[in-house]
Amino acid sequence: MELVRARSGPVSKSTVTGGTATSWAGVAAGHPFGIHTLPYGVFTDAAREQPRVGVAVGDAILDLTAAAAALLPEHFALFGSGSLDAFLAAGRRTWTAVRAALTEWLTEGRYANVLSPLLVPAAVATMRLPFTVADYVDFYSCEQHATNVGQILRPDQPALPVNWRHLPAGYHGRAGTVVVSGTPICRPPGQRRLPDGTVIFAPSSALDFEAEVGFVVGTPSVSGRPVPLTGFADHVFGICLINDWSARDIQAWEYLPLGPFLGKSFATSISPWVLPLDALASARVPPPPRDPRPLPYLDDTRTEPWGLDITLEVRLNDHLVSRPPFAGMYWTPAQQLAHLTSNGACLRTGDLLGSGTVSGSAPDQWGSLLELSRNGSSPLTFTDGATRSFLADGDEISITGTAPGPAGSIIGLGEVRGQVHALVNA
Ligand code: CA
Repeated sequence: MELVRARSGPVSKSTVTGGTATSWAGVAAGHPFGIHTLPYGVFTDAAREQPRVGVAVGDAILDLTAAAAALLPEHFALFGSGSLDAFLAAGRRTWTAVRAALTEWLTEGRYANVLSPLLVPAAVATMRLPFTVADYVDFYSCEQHATNVGQILRPDQPALPVNWRHLPAGYHGRAGTVVVSGTPICRPPGQRRLPDGTVIFAPSSALDFEAEVGFVVGTPSVSGRPVPLTGFADHVFGICLINDWSARDIQAWEYLPLGPFLGKSFATSISPWVLPLDALASARVPPPPRDPRPLPYLDDTRTEPWGLDITLEVRLNDHLVSRPPFAGMYWTPAQQLAHLTSNGACLRTGDLLGSGTVSGSAPDQWGSLLELSRNGSSPLTFTDGATRSFLADGDEISITGTAPGPAGSIIGLGEVRGQVHALVNA
């Protein structure tokens, strides 16, 4: 595998290309945060103690809170609170209008004098949780992952449950423990059952990551009115990266009969940048064929489906361990949203939908250590001689993502990173 890195550098004022369009803001050619990406986040720095809304441009962040005050006063209220919440709630027409304004500001040289002072080097900024997470739902929509897990944990049973190809399975997670990239992850304690049948309460010895893509709801929906497949882009603002930290030993003991609980709820990390759906127009691909044909509310054969050609990369202590391909996901995010609301449950601004672990068909495309180490029976061995079945204290997991953009450009999702810390007083 080839190591691909995007690292911060000095903010240049030279005009170079970032895809097809050029920006006076100095975006290096091929930069994943080029002029076609423009993700939104929330940041502080030494000069800005109050959180600001920012837009990533190359290795810099445009202070959108200040830029809107100068150039977009009619929308300043959306960016004045140090959160994306108001902007998310504003709806698709506003999302499109603001993105169009950003593109104009950053590509037309007449805005350089006003906006240059509002560009902050990303290296000196601290990224914050970008929005208030309302509800968090995590799906299980990758057939390869579900098959791998079934084969590893239930080898005497069919790999997929009988309902799996009929509906996007999911569970309600814990919104209050969603944290931004860089937040330390404390090894969770919990109940588990030892091979001899003894039940103990102890720090997890099988801490894992799950590489996922998240979908962020902007526009709420009305109770009792399901959101159809065609309503996806009206309600979902954009996407982020997710690491759904998982304690496999706690999970294995507690999950029957009601599913994931404390083995998942201790922490979920998300990337600081939320990429608007508008940036993914060139990444849409047909999803895999579905058999049996889904029920009408999930049947996307007569709509433009929401398969997305996103490639993730997972690194454990800077060793590249997996490149999961999102394009192969069996259920699309539009189908997940349609299913989530099919019983009349309404959406709230800030709802976060996790795709489920993304795994491809090859072993170097699997999105969890449970799969990569075959539940510990085949530990990973690194070039420095270290081995891992599950995560050790001090281990750091990084998940990055990219998608194709217009005219050969690259659309970056940034990174979600987290380091495992020992349980204090364990
Ligand atoms: Ca998950």
